[in-house]
Amino acid sequence: MSDVRSMNSSQLFERSKQIVPGGVHSPVRSFKGLDHAPVFFTKAEGAYLESVEGKKYIDFCQSFGPLILGHRDPDVQEQVERMVRTAWSFGAAEIYSLELAEWIVEQIPFVEKIRFVSSGTEAVMSALRVARGNTNRSKILKFEGCYHGHVDSLLVKAGSGLAGASASSSAGVSQNVASETLVSPLDDDEALEKVFKTSGSEIAAVIIEPLPANYGLLPQRREFLERIFKLARAHGSLVIFDEVISGFRVGLQGMAGLEKFTPDLVCYGKVIGGGFPVGAYCGRKDLMDAVAPLGPVYQAGTLSANPIGMVAGLTTLKKTVKVNGWEVLEKRTAGFCAKLNKLFQDHSAPFTVDQHSSLFWIRSKTAKSGPIRRIEEISTNQSQDFKNFFLRNLDQGLYLAPNAFEVSFMSLAHTDAILADALKIMEKSLKG
Ligand code: PLP
Repeated sequence: MSDVRSMNSSQLFERSKQIVPGGVHSPVRSFKGLDHAPVFFTKAEGAYLESVEGKKYIDFCQSFGPLILGHRDPDVQEQVERMVRTAWSFGAAEIYSLELAEWIVEQIPFVEKIRFVSSGTEAVMSALRVARGNTNRSKILKFEGCYHGHVDSLLVKAGSGLAGASASSSAGVSQNVASETLVSPLDDDEALEKVFKTSGSEIAAVIIEPLPANYGLLPQRREFLERIFKLARAHGSLVIFDEVISGFRVGLQGMAGLEKFTPDLVCYGKVIGGGFPVGAYCGRKDLMDAVAPLGPVYQAGTLSANPIGMVAGLTTLKKTVKVNGWEVLEKRTAGFCAKLNKLFQDHSAPFTVDQHSSLFWIRSKTAKSGPIRRIEEISTNQSQDFKNFFLRNLDQGLYLAPNAFEVSFMSLAHTDAILADALKIMEKSLKG
């Protein structure tokens, strides 16, 4: 067999498919529906990825969100290298997670206690257990189009890699488990009232992405989020904000801080680990005190609070604060998206771009103007239009998140010059 280091992306994909399901370790990486083999990468730096072919790409995927500073930020790299020379797993009490925990608790008033895990999925799974353990109720209410990781009970009408696919839930999730999950549409006050009226007393928690960003970008009306709190409070249910994407991405305190909500529990992932496998669930002290070893809700992890992830996360967060990162990114992304929208108009392209802070989503235009809030409002052309645009950009060295329903991410490494290059590439792509 030839050395994988001497093969091109198509050859590597074929080879990988022999032993890895779909050739990849997470579905969206396969470029499914894009009629193209995924690009295999070897290196990353700042705003760029480099493929096995030696081609450079401006990267707007940024590992699906964790890399708010860009790839291999030098300050993060320095701390990670220092940590590697010190220890890379203790499986014991240590100081590094305490530093990150204290920093977060100091910055975010509704985070009174925090437990680190190794992924967003684990954070969500654990938060649900805490909610059930505290309320002695079994049902969870989620929203159609929100994705909360591959937790069994939440793979019910989920988005992300499943969006656009004909099956709306996963095989292997038993009917019993699925039946514990209630699903309501986003942006639908009436449906929400109804589900609480019929099942309110059984609902342990409502979980929502406060900025739904896994089935395109579907910002919700403030009144809708308020209604969730009002109904949950009235029925004794908890509110869990899944801020795995939005946490430390839209601002230091995530969507909860921006919109001034006080969720009972919050889930973090992505940015909190600066590109290393870290997640966290946290929130009200009285609820978190139910977690083992203090309380009866069991949750554990061999590699939880891994010191490399802890220092990468803390360095990333502190640096973002120091450079006023969220404000810089908001301005930068808004400016970029305004120019991109102008390009779409000038070229009579069928697209528009929706933006929130450093997230943006290129979508097919629909008759309705303004942001769209529900999955049914997404154009039926989305998959086809996006595929064409994605592939033209890819060909010229620009990498968007490789799925029509995934948002793209701006990082602090995307300088004005790089963004000008990106717009040039996109303009050429529109010319065909
Ligand atoms: N929750 C949200 C909102 C997410 O976007 C994701 C992943 O994209 C998850 C949970 C799961 O996180 P992970 O992929 O780290 O398990």
